Amino acid sequence: MEKKFRQVNVLTFVGITVVMATLVITAFQSGHPWSLTCYQCRACNLKCPLGYDVAKYVAAAYSNNPDIYMSAQNLQLRLKTAYETDPNMIVEIDGNEMTAMEAHKKYPEDMMVYVRKLRVKDAARFDPLEGACETTCPIGLPITSIIRDLKEDGKFG
Ligand code: SF4
Repeated sequence: MEKKFRQVNVLTFVGITVVMATLVITAFQSGHPWSLTCYQCRACNLKCPLGYDVAKYVAAAYSNNPDIYMSAQNLQLRLKTAYETDPNMIVEIDGNEMTAMEAHKKYPEDMMVYVRKLRVKDAARFDPLEGACETTCPIGLPITSIIRDLKEDGKFG
């Protein structure tokens, strides 16, 4: 029994080490290694005028994956723009959430829709870069450097 516990402990340790090592590597690959120091308190979300889940920018940086989705509360786009940006973007019309592709089949494309979920790289594209998130971060992380980076070409680095 004791031997089994030891094996489980070793496997857990190895698993955690692999996950941590992977995160360190991907954070360096994105060019934003400081993102690993984010402790996901989400204080940066509180002042975003678009109601973005800003902490997802940081999560995208340490995982080197600008395709992860973040939520939004106050971003409005034309349906055409939403659909052309990402057909899988989640939009809200008359209180109902659906993909931009589904909405595009049913509604006029010049209609304004609320965006509820979008890829981090697309969020950066529509981000006004006010920087309120950065001034709110208790450890002063340079969040806007991620947004600027992604604004260029939707990729890190
Ligand atoms: S406020 Fe700073 S530490 Fe907190 S989630 Fe945002 S970036 Fe991370």
